[in-house]
Amino acid sequence: MKRGLAIALLSATLLVIATWSSPGRAALPRAANVPGGVALIPLGSASADAPRPRAWLDDQQVLVVAEGGRWLAIVGLALETVPGTHQLRVETGIETLRVSFSVDPKHYPEQHIHLRDTSKVQLSASDLARVEKEVAAIRSLKRHWREADETDTAFVVPADGRMTGRFGVRRFFNGEARAPHAGFDIAAPRGSVVRASASGVVLATDDYFFNGRTIFVDHGNGLISMYCHLDRIDVQAGEPVARGQHLGLSGMTGRATGPHLHWSVVLNGAMVDPELFVPHSGRDR
Ligand SMILES: [Zn+2]
Repeated sequence: MKRGLAIALLSATLLVIATWSSPGRAALPRAANVPGGVALIPLGSASADAPRPRAWLDDQQVLVVAEGGRWLAIVGLALETVPGTHQLRVETGIETLRVSFSVDPKHYPEQHIHLRDTSKVQLSASDLARVEKEVAAIRSLKRHWREADETDTAFVVPADGRMTGRFGVRRFFNGEARAPHAGFDIAAPRGSVVRASASGVVLATDDYFFNGRTIFVDHGNGLISMYCHLDRIDVQAGEPVARGQHLGLSGMTGRATGPHLHWSVVLNGAMVDPELFVPHSGRDR
């Protein structure tokens, strides 16, 4: 199977281990083969003289990193993923392979929210037209691919505060089903500092109907973080940012019932659970 993927000489493997397992590099997301989770799929030994294999899930290229002398695909699984067997298409430079992996079902809880401002639930024709445009723009940003030698996967929580909304919750606004909660909410008073969860490049900033003032940070190779409902944006598209760097201030712009930071993590176009990227906090799951 995947053993033949890359032929690694022992010396080359040792060189790769020395290069890639330097401190501070590790910190991969935790695997969770469920909709909204992340699958870590071994693609064989990494050798210094063989190029990094490239892999796709459907038409979306996925992140591949070297870890412990082997290649590992880090695959975002969209909330709509159907449980069962899925396949990655892998190009080694020599051959094209199919690598199977399984996705288990996961039941996310429901949440019913009452909004007094129904203008954000029952949209006017002009708001609807605006939202449709924004949905298309956000969709294309989430699928953005920037080839990079390194992808910073060692995330920090981007704001101080209590976690008030988990990823994946199936939401109902005034009784009407809406998209599931595709991020992680942190209660933070208006004006709290929002930091980059990992190093990267600012991909875009905008002011959206639902998400409010939003920053996208591209960490390379399909890993993107999103910071929403901001009061203020202090970075510009194209600007490199370091992990923990000040991006802006939190607020409640867009559709928000109170001041908070909504933080999303996108991997190969799929919204995934940000909690998988930060060290365990002792919260029960
Ligand atoms: Zn949220």
